[in-house]
Amino acid sequence: MLETRNLKKSFGKLEVLKGISTGIRRGEVVSIIGPSGGGKSTFLRCLNLLETPDGGQVLFKGQDITDKKLNISQYRQSIGMVFQHFNVFPNLTVLENVTLAPVLEKKVPKDQAKEEAMALLRRVGLGDKADEYPRKLSGGQKQRLAIVRAMAMKPEVMLFDEPTSALDPEMVKEVLNVIRELTRSGMTILIVTHEMGFAREISDRVLFICDGVIKEEGTPEQIFTCPHEPSTIKFLSMVL
Ligand code: ADP
Ligand code: MG
Repeated sequence: MLETRNLKKSFGKLEVLKGISTGIRRGEVVSIIGPSGGGKSTFLRCLNLLETPDGGQVLFKGQDITDKKLNISQYRQSIGMVFQHFNVFPNLTVLENVTLAPVLEKKVPKDQAKEEAMALLRRVGLGDKADEYPRKLSGGQKQRLAIVRAMAMKPEVMLFDEPTSALDPEMVKEVLNVIRELTRSGMTILIVTHEMGFAREISDRVLFICDGVIKEEGTPEQIFTCPHEPSTIKFLSMVL
């Protein structure tokens, strides 16, 4: 579904991604772990063109997404992204947050968009918050809203960048539960996370990204119980 070939990205003289090659199959759940500053966010941002790669390729279902002929806004609709800081629209109600993009960008009829949004909101336990404004929501509720908003576009892949890192501890679980449910529904997911137990539980594959490269990858069992690379061993010894 998504493939990178020797993906590179620099900011000025700082080479952040030094050639990342990997693929993600339809329905696969891949976790990305690694030390801060290693390039994890930049990697995700290159995948939906929030950053422009400056070397290598990103292929979505075989098509090079840096190709000038690609319809970027259409491509972005296929890729949902949820960030660390739940960036929901404060001036719109919960329901409006969810229906905005489907109505504006996909021309979904308003009634249908509302119905689908309500179904999604109920699925994450926010059905009774539909008419509230985000300021009335807890951090965990805002992040669940951000996930629903991305899902409302019916993306083919969901990218999560540390979705629980900015949450108070008691709210982490409710957000992880929503993501866990998505993995069970067959969604293709790439998630950067510091929740090692969660990564181990939900992932088909784990990538350890450090210094701009994939230093090691494997099944959760391989990475968490018998990592081979010294940098992986060192990282895990600090976080586990
Ligand atoms: P991670 O998500 O693994 O913590 P990032 O991809 O955020 O790592 O960052 C990797 C490196 O790139 C860091 O040194 C960071 O300061 C730098 N960086 C990220 N985005 C930018 C940017 N827009 N401009 C300049 N430097 C950046
Ligand atoms: Mg990051």
